[in-house]
Amino acid sequence: MRRKLVIGNWKMNGNRAANSALLSGIAAGLTSTGADCAVCAPAPYLAQCQAELAGTAVAWGAQDLSAHAGGAYTGEVAAGMLVDFGCRYVIVGHSERRAYHRESSELVAQKTVAALAAGLTPVVCIGETLEEREAGRTNAVVGEQLGAVLAAIPAADVARLVLAYEPVWAIGTGKTATPQMAQDVHQVLRAQLAGVNPLAAAGVQILYGGSMKPDNAKELMAQADIDGGLIGGAALKAADFLAIISAAA
Ligand code: 13P
Repeated sequence: MRRKLVIGNWKMNGNRAANSALLSGIAAGLTSTGADCAVCAPAPYLAQCQAELAGTAVAWGAQDLSAHAGGAYTGEVAAGMLVDFGCRYVIVGHSERRAYHRESSELVAQKTVAALAAGLTPVVCIGETLEEREAGRTNAVVGEQLGAVLAAIPAADVARLVLAYEPVWAIGTGKTATPQMAQDVHQVLRAQLAGVNPLAAAGVQILYGGSMKPDNAKELMAQADIDGGLIGGAALKAADFLAIISAAA
């Protein structure tokens, strides 16, 4: 049985004071340990997460990393640096990075390899645009995105992945995929994982992301292949984030 996992993606939001209130609110309000949870903060605040979340049931992580282990890459953050600040997770290939920073599936695959090499759990994001869905290309698009990652890692490492299916048209729009629409894609993704490593595929957590809120979380996470959520807007309010974690447990 897979444990549920709820991750807050703060995106480029927050400041020291607001983060402190949010982190203490989450840590203090977390009653159930039936689901795993984590926050992915902007890189400058990872030290704050480490200081304020150590000893709690809330893990933390970053929103991106470099494909390189170190060296002359101005502005980049290496996987080893994230490990240095106690990160467990790192989001890789978020659609905002694919769209605004032109990250290709090949680069996302290299970043996944870098995360795994450092002992981090990559949360690999995949998802189609509205145009791609309307053209009937959803499965082809997510298949290509996942395929690039699977081609870059040893089959045994499938067990170390977390996937997040985030339809681009559902992110920050208030439009959620119906539970059935999301389940259909999650099932396709799990089958693709199984093609590489059947045993591991059954254990991989596949999260849904895209306007997940307290009022739709339970129904989404009740689907057979939806193992949690990657939460944007609703992760910025402790009460909403906690409600989604409760819905998962
Ligand atoms: P929203 O929950 O704000 O739609 O964002 C989803 C997301 O992009 C999480 O990575």
